[in-house]
Amino acid sequence: ALRIGVLALQGDFREHLQVVSSLGETAVPVRREDELKGVDGLIIPGGESSVMDKLSRTFGLAEPLKEAVASGLPVYGTCAGLIMLADSILDGMAGQQTIGGLDVAVRRNAFGTQRDSFEEDLEVPALEGEPVHAVFIRAPVVETVGADAKPLGTLADGRVVAVEQGNLLGTSFHPEITGDFRFHEYFLAKARARASS
Ligand code: GLN
Repeated sequence: ALRIGVLALQGDFREHLQVVSSLGETAVPVRREDELKGVDGLIIPGGESSVMDKLSRTFGLAEPLKEAVASGLPVYGTCAGLIMLADSILDGMAGQQTIGGLDVAVRRNAFGTQRDSFEEDLEVPALEGEPVHAVFIRAPVVETVGADAKPLGTLADGRVVAVEQGNLLGTSFHPEITGDFRFHEYFLAKARARASS
C-alpha cells in the first residue's frame, strides 16, 4: 500500500484519512516534519486556510511542505487546501502565506453569504463516468489559471473549481464528504506512478 499523509493541523482531515484507508492505502496524519518523511503523497484538507497557514508556520511545517512540493511529491488540496497550494491569494487575511506550487490565483469565500454553501454537478473530462456532484462550503474559486496550471473542472458559469499542475491537484469543493472518490483515485494514481518510478 501507499503511505498517504493528511495534513492534520486543522480542518476535516479525519474524513480524508478515512477515504484513504477505504481505498486500501495507509493513511498517516501529519503534524510534524518527521511525519512527512516517507509519504508517497499528501492531502491538505478543507478548513480555514489562514489558521492552517499560521499553524504550519508555528509547527515548523511550512518550509518542509514547500520543499516537499518542490521535490515533486504528489499533493492534493481541497478547499482551504487548494488555497494553501495556490501561488497567490487575492483576498487573504493580513499576512496570510501559502505553500504555493499551483500557478493560480484563488479568491477566498468567493461565493458570498447567500451561496455560502451549495452543490452543483460538474463535468470533469479527466474523470470517467457521470458528472461529479460537488459540494462547496465557503469555497474559494480559481480566478486566474497561469500558463503552468490547467483547469480540470468548471461550474456552469465557467468559473474554475478544479485544477492540476504536474503532481499537484486542487479542488474548491469537498469530495471527501460525498462518497464519490474519483478525485482521490486520480490523486492516488499520481502517487502510485511516482512511487514506482
Ligand atoms: N473559507 C475557507 C478558507 O478561506 C475555506 C473553507 C473550506 O475549506 N471549506 O480557508
